[in-house]
Amino acid sequence: MNNNRLIWLNGNIVPLSEATINVLAPTSQFGANVFEGIRCYWNGEDKQLYAFKLNEHFKRLKNSMKMFRMEDKYTVEELKKGFIDVVTANNYREDIAVRQTVFIDGFGSWMAKGPINMFIAPIAKSRNDFNNNRGIKCCISSWERISDKNLSPKVKVGANYINSRMAQMEAIENGYDSAIFLNNQGKVSEGPGSCLFIVRDGKLITPPVTASILESITRDAIIQLAKNELNVEVDEREIDRTELYICDEVFLCGSAMEITPVVNVDGIQVSNGNQDNITKRVHQTYIEIVAGKRDNYLSWLTPIYV
Ligand code: PMP
Repeated sequence: MNNNRLIWLNGNIVPLSEATINVLAPTSQFGANVFEGIRCYWNGEDKQLYAFKLNEHFKRLKNSMKMFRMEDKYTVEELKKGFIDVVTANNYREDIAVRQTVFIDGFGSWMAKGPINMFIAPIAKSRNDFNNNRGIKCCISSWERISDKNLSPKVKVGANYINSRMAQMEAIENGYDSAIFLNNQGKVSEGPGSCLFIVRDGKLITPPVTASILESITRDAIIQLAKNELNVEVDEREIDRTELYICDEVFLCGSAMEITPVVNVDGIQVSNGNQDNITKRVHQTYIEIVAGKRDNYLSWLTPIYV
């Protein structure tokens, strides 16, 4: 199925093998593209596929286009229609992930402004098995997180992921599962493709949006559900590296990672990962919300099938 899937490319829905881009396009050569990674969750009872926070993703995509000085080519309605059309064309009846990418096409240099085009590529992706997932081991990366003064982490541009790649590859090479970045102020920022929370004394703490992080949609959802559903206080403040060693829980969050516990940082045990803790409660609530099992959160979801 993954090789047979259909892709939305420049207004047409085509087989993956026909969804090709010119090798000379600035997107291919320089990573001149901005994108979103969006999840849809299948609800067997409702026989419905729910897309999570589409409007927030498209707002962020348009913000990335603006910061990257791209022409404002697509309306939110067009972005949404392409998304729904291609997911429907694939007739998914399972959890999926969708990459929606606006890119500089053509033959230009790294300065080229266009032509601007888009692809939307869904793929089957099941939700993380939290109970069998004993949590991951992270190191603090020797690589500093990019900052708003050089390559802004707020622009979700393909080229930014070189910074993530350096950190992730180094972490794996050194025997860890992933990395946590410090920013240019020496404070904790985020993971290579996720944001970060810690728990101290029953309170959730996460770095502020000015800590060289992507303005994560999952992070925002967690802040809201912690306050409204779990009655857990959330502090958005700077986090020191050593707080990761002495806090009660650490987890990474993002559309792809969902809620992933971190049980060990720099070789120091943080928690055993499987206990009945705040991370687990956040995860349970999050999965119920995204799968359409909490009526008061249906406004966060877009049903794909009519
Ligand atoms: N930070 C980075 C660098 C990311 O790539 C992602 C994934 N998009 C996140 C954080 C999490 O963002 P979101 O919750 O919107 O997926």
